[in-house]
Order: sequence, then C-alpha cells, then structure tokens
Amino acid sequence: MKIVIVGAGIGGLTAAALLGRSGHEVIVLEKARALSEVGAGIQISPNAARVLASLGLAEELAAVGTAPRRIVLRRWQDDAELFENLLGDTVAERFGFPFLNVYRPDLITLLATACADPDGAPANIDVRMRADVVCAQTNPEGALVELADGSSIAADVVIGADGIHSPVRASVFGIFPTRFSGFAAYRALVPREAVPGLPVEVTNRVGPGRHIVSYFVGRDQRHFNLVCVVPEESWEVESWTEPGNADELRSEFVGWADPLQSVLAHIVEPVYRWALHDREPLPHWARGRVALLGDACHPMLPFMAQGACQAIEDAAVLNRCLAEFGEEFVDDGSSEAHRLSNTTAEGSLRALTVYESTRKPRTSILQAGSWGNATLFHLPDGPEQRQRDERYRATSGAHAVSGGDWLFGYDALTAPLPDGGDRPPSPPVAR
Ligand code: FAD
Repeated sequence: MKIVIVGAGIGGLTAAALLGRSGHEVIVLEKARALSEVGAGIQISPNAARVLASLGLAEELAAVGTAPRRIVLRRWQDDAELFENLLGDTVAERFGFPFLNVYRPDLITLLATACADPDGAPANIDVRMRADVVCAQTNPEGALVELADGSSIAADVVIGADGIHSPVRASVFGIFPTRFSGFAAYRALVPREAVPGLPVEVTNRVGPGRHIVSYFVGRDQRHFNLVCVVPEESWEVESWTEPGNADELRSEFVGWADPLQSVLAHIVEPVYRWALHDREPLPHWARGRVALLGDACHPMLPFMAQGACQAIEDAAVLNRCLAEFGEEFVDDGSSEAHRLSNTTAEGSLRALTVYESTRKPRTSILQAGSWGNATLFHLPDGPEQRQRDERYRATSGAHAVSGGDWLFGYDALTAPLPDGGDRPPSPPVAR
C-alpha cells in the first residue's frame, strides 16, 4: 500500500518506521528544512518504550536516556515531599520496559535512523523535507495531498501527523478551534555541572497557580531539564512558541523554597515560552482514506507527560490495523488488478475506522486527565490544598501498582482491536 504521512515529528516518524517495516511504500512530507525537535526533554513511559523497542531501538534509547529512580511531588513553599512513585527498576521489572527521560533531538535522531534503515531492508521510506502540505482529500479511489508548491501526491492512505495546527485535519475534518488553557510553559535547561548531587528523579513542585517539573536528560545526564508552567491570561502572540528569558522565568517563582531557587539560578539561555493549548476530543479522526495521529487529533496538556507517548502508541495500532484489514481479499471474479484496488479501498476504510475506535477512548481519558491535573496541581493554599496533600501522602508509593498499570502496562502491539474480533481470517493477497 502507498501511504503518505504528513509531518515528521515523533508520531509521524514512528509511524513511518513501523509501516515501512510492514512492507508499505511510505512517503513522509515535512515542511521544515531539517528534522529537528526543540532542545528540551521528554518523558517516555514504558507504554511508548515498548513500541520503540519493537523498532529495535531499546538499546540506543537506553543509551541516550536517563532512567529516573522515582517521581516525587513537592510542595512549593517548604519543598515537603507529598508523594512518590518508584520508577527505575521497579517500573522496568513490572512492565518489561523502562521509564526514560530523553533529550528530544536524540529521540528524533533515533527515529530518523529507524526510517533510514529499517532492519537492513530495501529503503521503502522516503522522507522529504521542505514539503509544505496545504490540504488533503479523500475520494473513492484513494487520497491526495496538495503542497504549497502546487504539486500533489496521490496515495492509498494519507496520515495527518502534522501537529496541533494540522492542515490535514482542517481540510478533511473541519475547523475545530484549540482551547487555550490559560497557562504558558517555560522550557529551560541547566548544565549538569551547575547542579551536582541532585538526585536522578522526576520532581514536580506544585504551588498556587503554577508548577515546575524537572529531570535529567541526555546521554550521561548531560542536562537538567525544566518545564515551568505559569498562568497566562491572554496569549496574543500568534505563533505557538516565543523566546522567553531566564529573569522573567525566575520572577514567576519568587517565594518558592530554596532548593528550587538554587536550580533556577543556573538556568542558561535560550529559554522558550509555550502557549499551552489542547482540544476537546474530536468527533472523528478517520474519514475515507485519511486518518490523523498524535497532536493532530488528540492534543493534550503536558500534565501527564503523555502527548508523544500516545502518538507512539497510535503509530503501533495504526500499523496493526492496516496489516490486519488494509487489503482484504474479496474474490469478486474480477481481474487481479481490479480486485486488489477494490480490496485496498474497502480494507483501508475499515482499518482506519478500527484504528480510531481502538485509540480514541484511551486518548480522550488522557486529554481530560491532563486538564484535570492543572486544577489539582495549582490549588491555592487553603483547606482544599491540604486535603489534596493528605490524599497524596495516603497514596504515596502505591501508584505503580494501581493507576500505573492502565497507563504504563498498555501494550499497543497486542491490545485488542475492538471491531476486529469477529472477522474471519483472510487468505494472503499478492503484492
Ligand atoms: P508534532 O511534534 O507537532 O509534529 C508535527 C510535525 O508536522 C512537525 O514536524 C511539523 O513541522 C510538521 N508539519 C506541520 N504542518 C505541516 C505541513 N503543513 N506540511 C508538512 N509538515 C507539517 N509528551 C510526552 O509524551 N512526554 C512528555 O514529557 C511531554 N512533555 C511535554 C512538555 C511540554 C512543555 C509540551 C508543550 C509538550 C509535551 N509533550 C510530552 C507532548 C509532546 O511534545 C507532543 O504530544 C508530541 O511532540 C506530538 O508529536 P506529533 O508528532 O503528534 O506532533
């Protein structure tokens, strides 16, 4: 099957690497000049690490990632520990895959390598840069993308992995405005040498109206990564990101406890500010021969650190659906060519529908949960905050065994495909 993927972010590249290994002809269209990611960290939980391992990336990922020993919640004013959840060996043993903090450019490099050389197989993944897609269309014969340079590319299936402002979504599914959260996130790095002796943990310091997440990333824990979430009443800058600066960031956390101040003192420029948007779950992600993946269909606030992990899970389920249903064999007595194009049409429609119905319930829960964490983390000082802290203390240490199973234990490589159970096995189709 010929598949066009729009967007070479974490979601698009994971999908390309998986679909290429399944034997499809894959074209990835990326509008940027070069493959890149913002120079910041990303948390990759076992549910996503499992998919990356299926691409043969487990060792390289472990080499560029840092495995934090635990995640800790601390209160803003006195740095008191409210909650811990063991990660490290506890999570790796329980789920079979690690929880890793990775420098984003390293992850993109790994995925690009997986696309360039899928297990030594002949290259069937073509990643094209400076390819700015303006819209997509679906029709009974297939799907089509149009590029800003006036050219177009036809395919059996088009996947919009083109991020929160997805032109594929806008052209095929309609205009759905983003929801501004009322928060901006500063992203900053501190060199490792400036903060010697800090524990290798994910620390989430929560306080009225704002919170800060910090962790080491990179080979040899090269950087200490900060995501600092602050209130932002109006976001008038049209672009998604803008440069911030270290002093402005520090001024947002005046009065917070000393351990945080000593980290903030060592922030190095550049510092960036992100407007945090999400969306309500969309009515649909699949229409005809076009489907969406990652932030294009389920952007979520980063307060559960799952946006990219879910895009990676999407890629695995999409690949399975296309393998399972993509080319259904229907012996209609017609010529081989006609029979194949019919079956590709019917099969891909079904594959994309099953993909959406498999993925949407899970990502919708995470979209809502991420929004809910904003309220919980940012409670003002007072009785409600004290009750929250008591609940955190009461459940401290138990998470990996309860809620963690649903999130970290999900296996996108084998999870049931809901509409597929009653389908009789199909005979193989000649390619
Ligand atoms: P994107 O990364 O947005 O990629 C889309 C790609 O499409 C881009 O390369 C873009 O250039 C390209 N594109 C766009 N338009 C076009 C076009 N017209 N033509 C061609 N190409 C196009 N997630 C986690 O799992 N763990 C975390 O710890 C985490 N932390 C976060 C912290 C912050 C502060 C933020 C803001 C997000 C965080 N996330 C995290 C979420 C995560 O970054 C995103 O969910 C993830 O990057 C989405 O990947 P994607 O491939 O779907 O989209």
